[in-house]
Amino acid sequence: MRLDSPIQYVKGVGPRRATMLEKAGVRTAEDLLKYRPFRYEDRTRFRQIKDLEPDQEAVIRAEVLVTGFYTTPMKRVRIFEILVGDGTGSLQAKFFNQVYLNKVLRKGQQVILFGTPKADSYGVGLNLLNPDFEILDAAGDHSIHTGRIVPVYRRIGQLTTKTLRQIIFSLVQEIPEVEDPLPDSLLQKYGFPDRRTSLRLLHFPECPQDRSLADYLADLAELRTPFQQRLVFEEFFYFQLGLQVLRRQRELAPKNRRIRIDASVRDAVKKVLPFHPTAAQKRVLKEIVGDLSSPKIMNRLLQGDVGSGKTIVALQAMVVAIENGAQAALMAPTEILAEQHFRNITAYLSGSSYRVALLTSSVKGKRRKETLESIRGGETNLVVGTHALIQGGVEFKDLALVVVDEQHRFGVMQRSNLIEKGDRPDVLVMTATPIPRSLALTLYGDLDLSVIDQLPPGRQPVQTLVKRNNERDEVYELIRRELQQGRQAYVVYPLIEQSEKLDLRAATEMAEHLHSVVFPEFQVGLMHGRLKAEEKESLMSRFKAGEVQILVSTTVIEVGIDVPNATVMMVEHADRFGLSQLHQLRGRIGRGRDKAVCILFTEGFNSPEAFQRLDIMRRSSNGFKIAEKDLELRGPGEFVGTRQSGMPEFLFGNIVRDRELLEKARADAESYFLSAGEVGGFEPGTLEQLADWWKQRYGLYQVG
Ligand code: ADP
Ligand code: MG
Repeated sequence: MRLDSPIQYVKGVGPRRATMLEKAGVRTAEDLLKYRPFRYEDRTRFRQIKDLEPDQEAVIRAEVLVTGFYTTPMKRVRIFEILVGDGTGSLQAKFFNQVYLNKVLRKGQQVILFGTPKADSYGVGLNLLNPDFEILDAAGDHSIHTGRIVPVYRRIGQLTTKTLRQIIFSLVQEIPEVEDPLPDSLLQKYGFPDRRTSLRLLHFPECPQDRSLADYLADLAELRTPFQQRLVFEEFFYFQLGLQVLRRQRELAPKNRRIRIDASVRDAVKKVLPFHPTAAQKRVLKEIVGDLSSPKIMNRLLQGDVGSGKTIVALQAMVVAIENGAQAALMAPTEILAEQHFRNITAYLSGSSYRVALLTSSVKGKRRKETLESIRGGETNLVVGTHALIQGGVEFKDLALVVVDEQHRFGVMQRSNLIEKGDRPDVLVMTATPIPRSLALTLYGDLDLSVIDQLPPGRQPVQTLVKRNNERDEVYELIRRELQQGRQAYVVYPLIEQSEKLDLRAATEMAEHLHSVVFPEFQVGLMHGRLKAEEKESLMSRFKAGEVQILVSTTVIEVGIDVPNATVMMVEHADRFGLSQLHQLRGRIGRGRDKAVCILFTEGFNSPEAFQRLDIMRRSSNGFKIAEKDLELRGPGEFVGTRQSGMPEFLFGNIVRDRELLEKARADAESYFLSAGEVGGFEPGTLEQLADWWKQRYGLYQVG
């Protein structure tokens, strides 16, 4: 067996299973070895049924005594029910709407059940509802599935956790002796187990003699055991080493053009400014212009809090490129945002002779054809668009500068696709994601960092109120007063993936209620992700024009929307949002000179943490401070949502939970790179791993 053997040749996997696995991205033996259990179950000993307690998670081993169906009289839910016994007592387990189970679970089988027993409705016995279960074969594979800490996997196609465990069990016996891809010096420094051991323990962990089982299980659950730390570190190390190499490669490959900054360019850049730039904007522009005029390719991350005025700085940079006879492109994550940028930029540039084009998937037919032609011919100087920019058929004559707005919304791939439309263009990525600076430096180690740390003058901080539901009337009156003065309001609803339909219904009902009962004298619009692009656009332009006074919205307004006349925001179920997200939302108001107010509704007053969290919003208007606090309070995991696709993806590591390891990996990668001198100086195994790691994640990496 080799690590890169196709999955089909792994013992226990035939062609049919291979297809299922491949579909899930498991293509080689190594992929399967890295298929991480999502939890571990302690089956070193089982709880006896007589000792079960309500609401306490437990694993039992028992025999199926009776099986049967019934349908609940009211809601007509089909329930499959089994009675199991282990000699100390018996227990019922119920499965909802899983009719097929009558073919799976049968009388006489030995089963393992994992779940949380609940008191039944009579209060006499205990029930298990939808427990995880596994059937033990009569034959002797028990040593894999019981008597140890066992891995529990997410199912792949029709491969159950038990099947996967069986396949992986035999696979880990065969992991070949290969050179450890982590440099020896690092293995020693941290006392990590070797890779082979780590991969085996990942699936079949063993509690060391000198540790208590309970402690070990707790460590496992939090990825704190040495083998887990090693797997996390390894990923971080290769990620960081790759960033070092990328950076170096860029330094070695200069641009093919010269960007000149003379008096006439300076003049043109000044002309687009409708206001005095802040000191921070000036400083950042200087950094960018320095990059543009240098022979080295620019790769710069522009960070700035919401409303700090990043757009105009980017526009000035684009003017520099255009004045040098080249083209510039600005990519935004949503159509609404692209259109808004297009409108604003067109207005800023109205005194110039530049041609600006908009390219989104809504630009169709003849208009699209003409737009594409003028981009290809070079008549268009500046293109604003969405993902539509990176599709085939879009060709530039001479793309010198790529700007990516709200970069956390884009994957690394999308960014690089746009870059490839030019001949090594300069790249500026902008983000308002307030990740702490140290984390930004670590995550974007291949980029230079500019920060706009100052808001334009005249802004008043948004007043923030935390309110209970029973204070609604008072809040409505406050909103009414604003609306009567000609202002506008946002009402924001959380929309959570798991309950998307219900949430959307709640938002819809709220919009109707506000319109017909609370504010009959005003226009109310409802914005959400399911609307068609044209519908969104038309609603947005009616809101901008002031024809709609109240915009009820799910979080699609989060990014970038700029309606200075909106001065009130009311957020429902504020405790369901992360603080950073609330901060982004709140940034939608207070963009003009008028006083603005943000009301956060919560039912979470009973929970001091929820209140404490929201209170931070009341006291601070600094996105970076808020992010740090959020991190402290909520801890790892939730801070960086999976939605933030621009973040690198790790199999084992979590950049927040494991940020100390990430930091160490960065320092280690730096010194490894320095001592190797060049990519050529890497140990062969390390080099190979590096190429693999980056190819798998980004498909774009070439070493050497
Ligand atoms: P963000 O950094 O969140 O993308 P924008 O670029 O959208 O912020 O700018 C927010 C608002 O501030 C815009 O309406 C913009 O016109 C305005 N603005 C930007 N810079 C200044 C400045 N120096 N003085 C006054 N207003 C400014
Ligand atoms: Mg912006």
